[in-house]
Amino acid sequence: MGVEIVRRLAELRGIVADWRGQGFRVGVVPTMGALHEGHLSLVRAALVKTDRVIVTLFVNPKQFNSAADLAAYPRTENDDAAKLAPLGAHVLYVPDGDQMYPPGFATTVSVEGVSEGLCGARRPGHFDGVSTVVTKLLLQTGGDFAFFGEKDFQQLHVVRRLVTDLDIPIEIVGCPTIREADGVAMSSRNVHLSAAERAIAPALAKALFEASDRIAKGASVPDEIETARSRILAAGYETVEYLELRGEDDLKPMPVLDRPGRLLAAAVLGSTRLIDNVPVSVGRR
Ligand code: AMP
Repeated sequence: MGVEIVRRLAELRGIVADWRGQGFRVGVVPTMGALHEGHLSLVRAALVKTDRVIVTLFVNPKQFNSAADLAAYPRTENDDAAKLAPLGAHVLYVPDGDQMYPPGFATTVSVEGVSEGLCGARRPGHFDGVSTVVTKLLLQTGGDFAFFGEKDFQQLHVVRRLVTDLDIPIEIVGCPTIREADGVAMSSRNVHLSAAERAIAPALAKALFEASDRIAKGASVPDEIETARSRILAAGYETVEYLELRGEDDLKPMPVLDRPGRLLAAAVLGSTRLIDNVPVSVGRR
């Protein structure tokens, strides 16, 4: 049996009300489609923890910084539905544009603090777009649990913050980053890489993992960040937009490793911007 595709909010609410009547717990997996194993891992986690799973697919114009990036974003709805069916996801919610942003739409959800710096500094308005659409999707689906990837680590923090601050009755579950065999974090944007760029791509994750390992063993944080940055550029990336150590739990800058941390980076390869992050553990000296 295929996954049921729903495009209207009223229909979605009817389905969820029916599930609630039967006592089912509802899981939500928000995505922008072009599904890969990273997304599917979230769906599997949702199927383990809940009784009914809604995957949402909405390429959210408000979170793109350029019209060209939005236009180039891969759209593969039929393939996405075909990937979800064998897993047993119950509904693929693909809201029509007017279900998200009807004429007159004028509200923005804006999270201070964790939205600032890192991707927030490089992509003005991006996290406002993410926060607004995620708030709407969580309220529209009315789920009990929502599943987000650590791949977008800052986004995960932003979503946790807005759910707490707005008293949205849903639990956010963070899921580990799924990688290709050579370490590259899976991303819908990887399809934009040429064969030559794809061969260079692993240098980002490799540099992060090596720096994480050395920092955990007591090496200097600024020295390791500088080494990692040089290695990424030497491999053939055009620029490293940021490469920083932040607190795992609060995303605050961490000049020295005094608690669990995350090394986060964004780098541009050809015309594709890639992000990645790895945990840094304490107490391994
Ligand atoms: P996107 O479609 O890129 O907006 O991503 C939808 C969800 O999938 C977000 O929660 C992402 O963090 C998550 N995600 C994307 N790539 C990965 C990955 N490689 N591993 C785990 N989760 C991922």
